[in-house]
Amino acid sequence: GAFTARVLTLFPGMFPGPLGDSLTGKALSDGLWRLEALDIREFARNKHRTVDDTPAGGGPGMVLKPDVVGEAIDAAMADATGDRARWPLLYLSPRGRVFDQAMARRLAGAQGVTLLCGRFEGVDQRVLDARGVEEVSIGDYVLTGGELAAMVILDAVLRLRPGVLGNEASTAEESFSRGLLEHPQYTRPQVWEGREIPEVLLSGHHARIAEWRHAQAERLTKERRPDLWRAWVNATQPDPAGEA
Ligand code: SAM
Repeated sequence: GAFTARVLTLFPGMFPGPLGDSLTGKALSDGLWRLEALDIREFARNKHRTVDDTPAGGGPGMVLKPDVVGEAIDAAMADATGDRARWPLLYLSPRGRVFDQAMARRLAGAQGVTLLCGRFEGVDQRVLDARGVEEVSIGDYVLTGGELAAMVILDAVLRLRPGVLGNEASTAEESFSRGLLEHPQYTRPQVWEGREIPEVLLSGHHARIAEWRHAQAERLTKERRPDLWRAWVNATQPDPAGEA
């Protein structure tokens, strides 16, 4: 069935945003996924619809209130029968585990996801603890809010869902799918500004092309991502001492 993306945000008007264009936009209008952007402010009880308050212990900025966010999460995690939806509940946060392709694959295998977007100084810790929220970061930098991070995650997840990309094969070979960065890509013209497409790619010899691409993927990974390279070497060349 369709994948449900339920987003809790103070700025529901930011959605679908860029997800409404191109492949994810087409998939949305084709009904391959459903987007529900819920306004956190709707869950504020007082007449001013207050969602935040000053940080306990002092300091700058504001913190999203646990009572308001708690109600919003409970509404977002309820399925049609009132039971708790059985899909991941994520809070976008620079303190979270850094999002990667393995996490994208795991989420793409679920029926949906709830994404809580913070603003200001973030969310009261008690509501994260009480609702078992998983914190996820999109990288080591600080954004003004979780909305762009939620869109990044949704984009990476949705392209792994069946039918979203025209060509399913394109996710099997790309960067990170096998633990290596992808080989360089070329297209016509055959000579551009005096630079040629590597000859092997024009040879029509599939085995030699695959071999060349693999060697390039290894070279790039070794040069640019020593962390990925070490993991790849460990995974593909088991330590002889380990076998003894
Ligand atoms: N005071 C927080 C801290 O230092 O960890 C930063 C809060 S940030 C200004 C506001 C919101 O933006 C966060 O609650 C989170 O939802 C979102 N955000 C900022 N950076 C992010 C990142 N790298 N990944 C995911 N979400 C992020």
